[in-house]
Amino acid sequence: MTIQELKERIIIANKKYREGNPIITDDEYDELLNELEKRIPKKEFIEFRKLLFENPGKFKHTYKVGSLRKIKYEDFNDSEIKFIGNKSGKIFITPKIDGNSIVLYYDEEGKLANVVTRGNGVFGEIRNALKPVFPQEFLPNAIVRGELCMTFEDFEKIKFDYEEYRNAKNPRNLVAGLVHRDDISEGLLKYLTFIAFQIMGDERNQETQLDILLENFFTIPDYEIVEVDKIDKEYLKKLFEKYKREADYPIDGLVLNDVGYGFENELIPTKRIAFKVNVEITQSEIIDITWNVSKNGKLTPVAKIKPVELNGTIVKNVTLYNAKNVEKLKVGIGSKVLVYKSGEIIPAIKEVLTESETHLPKKCPICGSELEYDGTELWCKNRNCPKKIIKKLVEFLKRLGIKGFTEKSLKNFGINNFKDLINFKANKKYKNQIKLEKALKEKLENLTEEEIFKSYPFQNLGDNLLSRIIDYYGFDNIKEKKFKDGYPELVSDITFKQFKNQLDGALKFLELVKERFNVKENKKKENKILKGKSFCVTGSFENFKRSELEKRIKELGGEIKSVSKKLDCLIVGNKPGSKLEKANKLGIKILKFDDKIELNELIEKICKGV
Ligand SMILES: [Zn+2]
Repeated sequence: MTIQELKERIIIANKKYREGNPIITDDEYDELLNELEKRIPKKEFIEFRKLLFENPGKFKHTYKVGSLRKIKYEDFNDSEIKFIGNKSGKIFITPKIDGNSIVLYYDEEGKLANVVTRGNGVFGEIRNALKPVFPQEFLPNAIVRGELCMTFEDFEKIKFDYEEYRNAKNPRNLVAGLVHRDDISEGLLKYLTFIAFQIMGDERNQETQLDILLENFFTIPDYEIVEVDKIDKEYLKKLFEKYKREADYPIDGLVLNDVGYGFENELIPTKRIAFKVNVEITQSEIIDITWNVSKNGKLTPVAKIKPVELNGTIVKNVTLYNAKNVEKLKVGIGSKVLVYKSGEIIPAIKEVLTESETHLPKKCPICGSELEYDGTELWCKNRNCPKKIIKKLVEFLKRLGIKGFTEKSLKNFGINNFKDLINFKANKKYKNQIKLEKALKEKLENLTEEEIFKSYPFQNLGDNLLSRIIDYYGFDNIKEKKFKDGYPELVSDITFKQFKNQLDGALKFLELVKERFNVKENKKKENKILKGKSFCVTGSFENFKRSELEKRIKELGGEIKSVSKKLDCLIVGNKPGSKLEKANKLGIKILKFDDKIELNELIEKICKGV
């Protein structure tokens, strides 16, 4: 066999192997490789193997990527937990993350080589376009399993930022869509979060594994260690509900195994189970459908139902999501329906038992304008629809950090639009009115023009997008409506058009504020790269004081906080205190540095790493 023939043979065998139809045995395959290795230079051989590894398509997992036995709340019994926990009498519990299972393969140098989907547990698919989401380096030849998911916050952001995802129903499906997109861009990768929970093939217990993962910049799940005797199904249900309330990402159960559990090379592990709480479903009847007008003018249908109890609370209202859904479900007054609490804890309709005639409203319930139907949503396009305006006012106050004023209170004060609000003069008889007038002055006179502009409640534009737009075109240009060519990163032409449509309103608003209040001069453009991120520093550094580092972080827009669940990142120097332990437990991102590092270098690193 010539070298070329030998290479071709290996490539075909490799391809078939990955497709799940091997044409030769593993031993025969290894023999071919051995022979090739003898016949060609080492460098060429390494290149060739690399090529084999990178070949897209089916990938045979090194270990079986198991799927857990699911025990439902109703079927749970104590013997189950005693069986699982018979090794140490203690159970290790983590939330079951509702994402997409991913296995990471690191090469002999510890570099991330392949990102592979679970597939059927034996063969997965290589998705190396996702690589930037994961730590690029880890232990040599390590195989890491985890869930690729999306935080609720990122889910809202991506819906805002990308037109095509605006109607996404839940984070999990959106992640699945992204995983299988061949043209996924770096921009989209930012919305993904990977939570690692296992080093495959590693016999050490899970807590040790998670520690190692955390030290190497993986995000890990929360966990709890509980004695077998203390666990019953009510305990687990409560714990599940607690995790569900607190988690930043979707979870759909709990994972239980013995504290000493390491790894089982099984498609269905025997000593690790998933605990699931079933969603309760109840029958009721629709007594009315009302349409709420949002600040964007979108009408959201809500079904009023005969009150029923679901998972311990009384449910009277059920969301119908949008007009299209109402048509699809064929629901109306008198429809008998099955309702349940969906993943996001909002009651929804599971099934319509008796259909009714559906009537979509023709006119806005607030202002009476003709509604527009885009096939999915109904819109009130009246710019002056009072409901839209009052909602914007409330949002504006919220953005300023002025609390305690609702749509109703503003109406009571006689405030119906921005002009009324900015020029508001309190009736001195009412404390609440004085409070509002004072708060407005205090807040607005402490902001720069640009900051005030940013506090305007633009619709369909998150803070993030708005900042991108302002940074790209420059605030002074925006005021004069001068726009250079192109769009900022992540801002689509649709988004930009929406911004431009609202620009007049926002500028007029800015003029109103400037007429009434002494607005601060615009500060020089500062680099606020750490804005929105919180940091805590523990341990010491040789070349600077902790307080110097904290000052620099603040100058870059970052916040200094103590260690809590809300903290984004812990910076660790020499001899860290108990903060490190606490951060470890909470699964907070930890950046460890050599204590001889220079301040500038450290700052550069955290700016890159966050
Ligand atoms: Zn209206």
